[in-house]
Order: sequence, then C-alpha cells, then structure tokens
Amino acid sequence: MPINTGDVLKNQYKVCRKLGWGHFSTVWLCKNLYKNGPKYVALKICKSAPMFTAVANDEIRLLQETRTVNPNHVGYKNIVQMVDTFKLISENGVHNAISLEIMGPSLLHLLMQSDFRGIQVAAVRRIIFQVLRGLTYLHEECHIIHTDIKPENILIKVDENYIKKLIGQMERFSEMGVDLPRSYVSSEFWTKQESSLHDSEEDIIPRFGEHRASSYPGNMYFSEMTNYRERHSQTDFSTPMWVSPNIEIKIADLGNACWVDHHFSPEIQTRQYRALEVILGAGYSYPADLWSIGCLAFELATGEMLFSPKGSSEHSANIDHLCLIWETLGGIPKYITETGTEFKKYFANGHLKDVPADNLRIWKIEDVLVEKYKWKRLDAIPFASFLSSLVEPDPALRATSSQALNNEWLLSTDI
Ligand code: ADP
Ligand code: MG
Repeated sequence: MPINTGDVLKNQYKVCRKLGWGHFSTVWLCKNLYKNGPKYVALKICKSAPMFTAVANDEIRLLQETRTVNPNHVGYKNIVQMVDTFKLISENGVHNAISLEIMGPSLLHLLMQSDFRGIQVAAVRRIIFQVLRGLTYLHEECHIIHTDIKPENILIKVDENYIKKLIGQMERFSEMGVDLPRSYVSSEFWTKQESSLHDSEEDIIPRFGEHRASSYPGNMYFSEMTNYRERHSQTDFSTPMWVSPNIEIKIADLGNACWVDHHFSPEIQTRQYRALEVILGAGYSYPADLWSIGCLAFELATGEMLFSPKGSSEHSANIDHLCLIWETLGGIPKYITETGTEFKKYFANGHLKDVPADNLRIWKIEDVLVEKYKWKRLDAIPFASFLSSLVEPDPALRATSSQALNNEWLLSTDI
C-alpha cells in the first residue's frame, strides 16, 4: 500500500521515514502523536494477500505472548516488543499494522561497517550474552522457537537523539534532492573516530543501499554478500574494528517464529544458520536456535560466516553444507547420520555419499581461528569450546540457552 512520509495513520502515527523491509512487510519510523506510549515507534505494515495476513496474524499472536508472559524476566528486554496493533485498509485489501519498540541498525550493518573483519571480542561477548538472555525468555517462558536468528534480525538499541538525527538527515537529503535508496539506515551510528571506517558517507549510501535494495532475504541477498566478500578477499581480516562494549541489542522479527508444540513449517532458518537436524529433516525444537547462535557468534568475531554453502539446487547446497559441517566438526556421529527423513539421500554407512573422504579437509574451529584469523591459541581454545557446545550435531546434547549463559568463555572478562 502506498505510504508516504508525512502520512498520519490511525490518527496517531506520523510517518517519518522508511526503516527497512522484509518478505512480508515494510517498516516505517513513525512519531506517536498521542501522549501515551513511546514517542517513536517502528510501524511494520504487512502485505495484504491472504497468505501474508495469516503469517502476520501468527506473528501478532507470538508478539502478544512475549509481551505478556513475564515482563519481569531478565530476557524480556532483549526481545523487541509490540506496542500496538491495528488494521489499515487500502485498495488492495486489509493490512495488519504492528507498532514495535523503535530500534537502530542491525548487526549486519555493524558487520558491514567493519568491512567484514569482525568486531571486538568484548562486544561479541556482550551481544551474545544478550541474545542468549532473550532466547531464554522466548524458550523457557514463552515456549517459542525463533527459527531465524541471524545478524539482520538482531537490532541495536538507540536513544532518542539518534532517532531525531535519522529524521533530520532524511529532511536534509530531501532538500538536497538526493534520491535515497529504499533501506537507507544511517552510517553515523558509530562515528568515524570510533570505528575503522574510512569510507565517506556518500560512498556508503549507494553501495549498501543498492546491496539491500535489490535483494530480499534469501539466496540472492546472500550471493551478493558473498560477492562483496570476495571483492574484499585481499583485505587483512585479522584486525577487528573498535565498537563500544556497552552495546545493547534486542532480538527482532518473530515473523518466522513458532510454538514449540505447533510448528508452521518443516523447513526453517536461513540457509547459513540452519541446524543440522533441520537439514536432515529430523524435526526441530529450541536447540535449532542455539545452533544459529553458534554461527552468529563466529561471524561477529571473524566477520565471516561459519558455514557458507554453495550449490544451485537445494540438494547440492545441502551436500555442500553437510561437507562443511563435517570438516568443521571433524565428522558427524554415525547415529546422527541415520536420523531424519533425508539422511539416506546424503549418508551411507555413516559417511557422506558420493564425497570421497580425500575431498574432505578437517579444519576445526580452534585451528581456523588460529591459522586463518590469527587468534592467539589461548584465546581460541575457550571460544572454540563455546562454539562447539552450540554447533553440536546432537540437539539433545547441545547447550540450552541457560546452559550457554554459564559458559566459561561468556563469563570471562577482558573488557
Ligand atoms: P519481515 O518479517 O517482513 O522480514 P522484519 O520484522 O524483519 O520484517 O523487518 C524488516 C526490516 O525492518 C528489518 O530488517 C529492520 O531493518 C527493520 N525493522 C524491523 N523492526 C524494526 C524495529 N523495531 N526498529 C527499527 N527497525 C526495524
Ligand atoms: Mg526479517
């Protein structure tokens, strides 16, 4: 539905600028004209086709649950909460609108700002700690599986000054007649002194704007990101950029979430963050989210994805993905290779079918950190052990979010 800046929706929300979009929606920064409630909100306006409406209705029910179950839980504040929900009518039909706590850029923007070098370990620890706390709330109190933990769904908390700056910037650009990319999110969040950014703002806007504008979450988006990384393969990835260790984050986008006892789809998660049991069709539960957090932690620390499978078809991408998991974990237990509806397509007698053993090169996380990312062995050992507890092939043995919160690596302080 056409939305323009300056529109007032529900006689309450004045549209200031676009914040982002996804498969199901566009998200707008709005000023709340009422005295009650937060001054600014992110308004998610969902598409009107029946399929999208059904998905939005589920998302609203899930958000309703997270908003009400236990606001006193420590993880409550690490979930982006719904403020209000209402319906908008357009010539296309009825659109669900969800107003949410307003947040800043996502962790993907942070990774981009680091030029995919990764961020300071102290900040990674702080981010992962908060993600785990949020998940503890979702899992243990709300009985919800997020199913789509990845950098773009973890949003950074910002203050009112930042939001005002965002709005002011929009006005400046429109006065200058600049044609903004659809997803423009400020690059001012980390000042140039604070980060190792050397690009000028003019340079960043079209490059990252194009990058997002032409792509929806999914394959196309990720192939673009891979290209971006390949273009930068000459860069020294060993120096993490500086980022404030006081960063605060929240988990966003319950658009793909489900109830532990009521799944909406057998296929979940964005490819690179997809748990082994999901690939094998072996059913899934809370542990699938913990696998994704392992992938997320590695990516934040190194700037590169832990698993980045290639393949033009679902089948070939699955084979590549299983090879990468095999190489990184040093194998997959035979009993796991015999679970799920899909295992016979990929495994025979505990080994990857059609993949000669000579083609697999075991390269465990600890060694990858030391050899590729130049970590000190003493730092790599506890981090690799933390990651291994999450990227554990057997979901029954994988750390739960509460257990992961007590991991030695997470509790150590070098801030
Ligand atoms: P979809 O379910 O359609 O994928 P998301 O909930 O992921 O939609 O939102 C799409 C984009 O909108 C996000 O990637 C982010 O850039 C932006 N966004 C979503 N929620 C917020 C929020 N609460 N505050 C700020 N930006 C948001
Ligand atoms: Mg999304």
